[in-house]
Amino acid sequence: MRKKSGCVPVQRILLKISGESFGSKEPFEMLHVDHIIHDIVDAYNQGVEMGIVMGGGNIVRGAVLEKKGIPRTTGDEMGMLATVINALILRDLLRLKGIKAAIINARLIEGIGEAYQRDKCLDYLASKTILLFAGGTGHPYFTTDTAAALRAVELEAQCLLKGTKVDGVYENYSPDLARARKLDILTYEKAIRARYQVMDLTAIAFCMENRMPIRVFNLMQPGNLLRAICGEIGTWIGV
Ligand code: UDP
Repeated sequence: MRKKSGCVPVQRILLKISGESFGSKEPFEMLHVDHIIHDIVDAYNQGVEMGIVMGGGNIVRGAVLEKKGIPRTTGDEMGMLATVINALILRDLLRLKGIKAAIINARLIEGIGEAYQRDKCLDYLASKTILLFAGGTGHPYFTTDTAAALRAVELEAQCLLKGTKVDGVYENYSPDLARARKLDILTYEKAIRARYQVMDLTAIAFCMENRMPIRVFNLMQPGNLLRAICGEIGTWIGV
């Protein structure tokens, strides 16, 4: 299916985009959003069906607000709303490229997106519509990683791709990468035991129970989405 390098990507993926992948200190600076859109369009044009779970950490994280005295549940509600903002940005930027995109919102807001229904989502995917999942799981105390794991399994994606700002999972990680060693392959058990902090433990455990492979990769580098789909980069987490 991929013409350029001969790689045949999987048919359906669930992509998790962390809010921080937008790459900005200011919420709406969004330094990397153009190439992220470009990467998504590229994969779409190769026939890859895509569900995308949006994070919201570039705007609000409940746990951070809790440190300032805001109750966790309120902060998490705000975090879920932040994911809706990011989903709206992606939806409209995709539409500007002529691509059909629909927001599926776990926390229904009248007039914004639709409620999750598995059959409807499968119909959307079959009709070449990109699904943008907003609102995480719809519940406080969870993360969008867990929402991504859930949707990947429910929609029978072949892989959960976690786009971040690092190249994959590192042993002895430090920002200068002085003693760090990148892992190409990792078992679910080791990822959970070592607590590498690349992905929420609940999400990894759910993927393990349902044998959903995960690939962690750097989405901030243009062109990386197709490379990740083709298994050329990042860290693969599986059995
Ligand atoms: N959140 C939540 N329940 C969910 C998903 C997200 O309460 O199912 C809240 C939580 O406060 C979280 C914030 O939304 O910190 C943003 O999501 P996340 O941290 O997963 O975003 P990311 O770090 O991937 O940008």
